[in-house]
Formats: sequence, C-alpha cells, structure tokens
Amino acid sequence: KTKQQTNEFVGAIDQGTSSSRFLIFNASNLELVTYHQETIEISTPQPGWVEQDPNELLEKTTLCIEKAVEQFEGLGYNKSDIKVIGITNQRETTILWDKETGKVLHNALVWLDARTQETVDFLLKQYNKRQDCLQEKCGLPLSTYFSALKIRWLMDNCEEVRTAIEEKRCCFGTVDSWLLYNLLSDDKNTVHVTDVTNASRTMLMNIRTLKWDASLCDFFSIPEHILPEIKSSSTIFGYINKGALQGVPVGAVLGDQQAALVGQRCWTKGTAKSTYGTGCFILYNTGNDLAYSLNGLLTTVAYKWNDDDPVYALEGSIAIAGQCIKWLRDNLGLIPDSKSTETIAASVKDTGGVYFVPAFSGLFAPYWRSDARGLITGMTQYTTKAHIVRAALEGICYQTREIVDAMYDDSGVRLSKLKVDGGMANNKLFLHMLADIVGMNVTTPGLSETTALGAALAAGKAKGIDLFQLDDENEIDTKMSSYTPKIHGEQREENFASWKKAVIKSFERLT
Ligand code: ADP
Repeated sequence: KTKQQTNEFVGAIDQGTSSSRFLIFNASNLELVTYHQETIEISTPQPGWVEQDPNELLEKTTLCIEKAVEQFEGLGYNKSDIKVIGITNQRETTILWDKETGKVLHNALVWLDARTQETVDFLLKQYNKRQDCLQEKCGLPLSTYFSALKIRWLMDNCEEVRTAIEEKRCCFGTVDSWLLYNLLSDDKNTVHVTDVTNASRTMLMNIRTLKWDASLCDFFSIPEHILPEIKSSSTIFGYINKGALQGVPVGAVLGDQQAALVGQRCWTKGTAKSTYGTGCFILYNTGNDLAYSLNGLLTTVAYKWNDDDPVYALEGSIAIAGQCIKWLRDNLGLIPDSKSTETIAASVKDTGGVYFVPAFSGLFAPYWRSDARGLITGMTQYTTKAHIVRAALEGICYQTREIVDAMYDDSGVRLSKLKVDGGMANNKLFLHMLADIVGMNVTTPGLSETTALGAALAAGKAKGIDLFQLDDENEIDTKMSSYTPKIHGEQREENFASWKKAVIKSFERLT
C-alpha cells in the first residue's frame, strides 16, 4: 500500500534508563526525520541501590524536545505540523512528589533497585504467603522490581514521605506520570494520570478490571489517594503547557517494552519481540486473553486503545543486558565503549569455557531470585579480556533462551522467530550469537527506534492519524536483517547445560 504524502508529523518522548530522547516521525511513511538524545546519570549509593534524579529526567526530556524541534525547523519543516506526541518510559521506577509545591520527596527508585528485598521478606512473613500470592490479581510475583514495594520502602524509611501522605499532599507516579504532571499541569497542578501499561507494573492495579484494587493497596498499606488516575494507552491526556510544543496534545502513554511490542508490529496474538537495552524484555502478545505463567513470566497489559478491550502479554524480564556491557566499561574499565564489545569478542572463537552470570540485581525471570549475585566462572591462565567480553554477550543470550523455553512451556507454541531491537541490536556479533544460542532465526526491524515508533503510532491513533496501515510486504520490511543459527543442536544443548550450572552457583552464598 502506498500512503498519500501528508505534512503531518508525530513526536515521541522516549525516557529510558540510560537516556532521554525526543524523536519526530513523518506520518506518511514513518520515516524518522530527526531526534535529540541526552544521557541520564544513574547513581548506586549502596550495593543494590539504584537511583535517578527526577528533575534530571524532566530537564533532559524538555531539552531533547527543544533541540529536536530546533533541528526539525532547521531542516525546513514547520513545528505546527507536529500534530501530536506520545510518551514511552522506563517502567516501575518510582517517584513521589508534593502536589502543592511540585517538589520531589526523594530521588527516584529505579526499577533495578533491590533495596526493597527486606520489604519483600517482611510482607511474605507477615502474611505467611508465597511469592506468587498476588499473581491472580495483578499478574506479578512479589519482587523488589515493582513500584508498590518501592513506595512501601519510601513510606517506611522517609519521614518527609510519611508526613506528606498524612497531610494528603503526596503524589505517586511512574516516570510517565511525573512527566505528564510537569508537561501538562495547569496552575492548579491537577494532572495526575498514568496509563494501563504503566499501572500494570505497580502490583496495585487489578489486571482484569484495570482499576486500583483496594485489597492490593491494603496488602502493601498504600493509601489509594496517592495514586494517579488510570487512562487507556491511546487517548488525549492533555496539552503541553510550555516550550516549543506548547499546545500540542499528548495522545499516548506506553511503558517502553509495551511500546516496542507495538513498534515491532506485534499486533496479533502469538507474536513476540525482544528488546535489549539496559535490561532485556521479551513480550508475547496473548490477545484479549489473560494468560498466567507457571514459569515465572509476568502477565501484563500490552496496550489498550481508547475504549477497546485491553490486549495482554506474557513477559519475560531480564534485569541486566546492556547494563552489563556498561559495567565492563565503567566499573572494570575493560572496554572503551559499548560498541567495541563486537570487535573484542570477535577476536576469539569462543569464551574458552568462561560463563558470566550478570545477576547484579538478583535474577528476574524465570527465577525471581533477588539473592542471586553475579559471577564469572571457568577462568584459566589462558582467559583474556576478550573471553570475558564474549562471555558477557553470551550470558545475555542464555538468559533469553531461558525465557523462550518458559514461553514454550506456558503456551505450547514455539516462536517461529525472535524480533529484536534496542541498543544492543546494533551489535551484529551479538545477534549471530543469539541465533546460535536460542536456536531460531533472529530479525531486526527495518525501522530502528521501535520503542519511540510504538509511542508515535499510538499517539497518532488518538488524533485520528492512522499509522497502522502497514502490511507485511512493505518497504520497511525490505530493510529488515535476519540471522540464522549456525551451530549444531547438540553443541547448543551442551553449552546451555553448562550455563544452567553457572546459574545455580549464582544462588550460593559465600558468607
Ligand atoms: P535503554 O532504553 O534501557 O536506556 P537502549 O536501548 O538505549 O537502553 O540501549 C543502551 C544499552 O545498550 C546500553 O546499556 C549499552 O551498553 C548497550 N549497547 C549499545 N550499543 C551496543 C553495542 N554495539 N554492543 C553492545 N551493547 C550495546
């Protein structure tokens, strides 16, 4: 199908863990016209603690909008042709602020933050329950990862938060709510909203009714008055109140992984994508059906278009993917930049028996063991930095294999291929290794920036700009790349068995 050329453009804020971006797409062919990106600081004040400054998230986002719009006009376009924007964001990250002053009450507890382990243990003991006791209601296991635990930790440990809650001045939000509150609020600061996909990551939303659930709030002793209003993922959230895009509507909000699912065009039941950014997240579209996993996968809302029924997904979450590459760079100084992992790892033919389990924030799916710790095992005098870098890349592939196996076990259906994206999808060696280790074809999309694209598609929808008119034979797909497995099945299974042994070691305590 060819679409008529129009002068309409759609923007997308992509507020990730490692950077903020603002991207502008041409609505007639989905071409990325221009974008601006700013790196975000991440601080680890204590082992297991991971924080970001909410003001930095906001300032960098605003800066990205200003710079990208400036470049857009520099290219000869008119900013009044940007009709609508969407927001996609890192999920679960928890921000509390004072609704009267708009000031944050604490740094953001980032999704990777595992300080809430004691809170998890305390709640399990208090109610004498299993980790999956809330799965039926909210689709998620009790884990350090989700927002409710982070809110509860802040309530238990931060006087200012307690007082603000008592005085009914406290607002909770995931990053989308925080951005919307600041970008859309009027003088009375009344915009306190989120979307179903972000709300589905808090453990406080009922996965069937898509409303805050009193029994879940009671479980965590979290008062409902601090929670935002839940809206669908594609609807007009409001209008930007200042800056270059003043007056432009925000037409969509989607958690980053859900946005990537939309951007990868996984719009039918049985399709899946895998995104390699800071962490890795594999989402499997289960249509309008709610599916529960017996293998540590999460049940989550994939998206909800306006008044339509929600579409659900099963998700395999891996805490550390690209973050492990950054760790090699920043903490060990082993590599000059992320990109160099490709040439360094390619300088050796295998890892020489080294396995690297990057359990820095425990292990998420399928294990949900927050007590797991990272390890590098199997080293000899022969081992070089290249083997370790290669083992780091492989570790991410093995974790993917574990999720793909869990999905097969839960659904009885084998994926026909893995559609991948995210920062690490730029690494071709990694994609070859992934195909070998998972044992299936791996493809990367013709259009990169699938996360932002998903938010743009959803935002267009709210404004009556239909960008979903793509079939499988379009120009975008001709730019797709594909990687086929090259190693023998027997070899694959042998290596995978060794990986599993390494994972078991990551559960062992030395002290
Ligand atoms: P996020 O959305 O989580 O902020 P991105 O999708 O922007 O993340 O991906 C950035 C991550 O990908 C970083 O952790 C970086 O180390 C990793 N990365 C980027 N390029 C490469 C590459 N060529 N090889 C390996 N890792 C890479």
